[in-house]
Amino acid sequence: MDKVIVKELYSLIKSREKDFTGLTRQIWEKPELGFEEKFACARQLELLKELGFSTESPYAGVETAYKAVKGSKKPVFCFAAEYDALPELGHGCGHNLICAAAIAAGWALCSKLEEKGIDGTVVVMGTPGEESKGGKVIMLKNHALDGIDAVMMVHPSWRTTPDTGSTAIRRFDVNFSGKSAHAAAAPELGLNALDAVVMLFTGINAWRQQLPEASRIHGVVSNGGNLPNIIPSSASCRFFLRSPDDSVLDKMEARFMDIVKGAALMTGTGFEVNPVNVPYKSRRPNQGLNRIYMDAVSELGMKPVFPLHPGRGSSDFGDFSHACPGIHPYFGIADREIAGHSVAFAEAAGSNYAMEQMLKAAAAMASTGYNFIKDKEFNLEVISGK
Ligand SMILES: [Zn+2]
Ligand SMILES: [Zn+2]
Repeated sequence: MDKVIVKELYSLIKSREKDFTGLTRQIWEKPELGFEEKFACARQLELLKELGFSTESPYAGVETAYKAVKGSKKPVFCFAAEYDALPELGHGCGHNLICAAAIAAGWALCSKLEEKGIDGTVVVMGTPGEESKGGKVIMLKNHALDGIDAVMMVHPSWRTTPDTGSTAIRRFDVNFSGKSAHAAAAPELGLNALDAVVMLFTGINAWRQQLPEASRIHGVVSNGGNLPNIIPSSASCRFFLRSPDDSVLDKMEARFMDIVKGAALMTGTGFEVNPVNVPYKSRRPNQGLNRIYMDAVSELGMKPVFPLHPGRGSSDFGDFSHACPGIHPYFGIADREIAGHSVAFAEAAGSNYAMEQMLKAAAAMASTGYNFIKDKEFNLEVISGK
């Protein structure tokens, strides 16, 4: 990694600092839920045009998605932006920082390539609806990444780390149907759907001890009946299944369906299982890109850490990382451990410290893209995934 370039990219970004922090702040102040990010999308397009990008929106079948392009010829490096918020929490996942970092990185990289007369194209891609809605999965089905050689984004966290992967996730609603009856006067005439839900949880809890490391299954009861003296004729629950290995998740899904059937058999009830939300694949971080990002954040004094455990959350960037070499590393926005999707995280995402860190993370991203475009050997390493 070229240490001088990292510093130069950071100075460039600092020279237009207010454009990027201003965008971050405006989006933080006006949170919009997934696929409703009209303001955030419009503001980003405005800035991208001002920075010399040619833009297309809607993009890949999604109304609030966009593709912004600058530069020419191969290779093509893409920065993915997210900008959706969470219900009640606002920017409790800090996506207001992600989009500004992507634009800052894209602009700085283009400027540096032009200055040095290096061929290469930079794409900034707006990918809305990450929170449970699978914007990237939908966009991928509509060929969003066609022609792109590598893709990356950065995500805020309480600390700066490489991409340690994430779990694939599938979500299901289960409904059991029985027969209602007076629970005291005529229980023999009823079929208890709530019992089936209880059996399902019990079966899953027994199965849990034999699950591979880092696999997860968690559920809630969404309908458990109305009154104790009415045997519930209908009861429902929702489960999330996760694994860092997509083939393990196939087996988990089959076993989950068997346990559902078992619970129905034990209670004489009927059942229905429906997938909810879009399934996400696991994330496969490209180790070459990870290395350059980590070198760059160290150079910028961000004190990165290398976690011992693989990432356990899930993100629709997983699907992107299966389609194209990519990473989704993190940058720290707090001086202590705070949970994502919390009020504290939403506050941190609007702080001056988060803005400063976002500018540095953008420079580290631009540096990763610069190495990918300029250094043929590194480019081959990334493409071959070794
Ligand atoms: Zn989130
Ligand atoms: Zn997020």
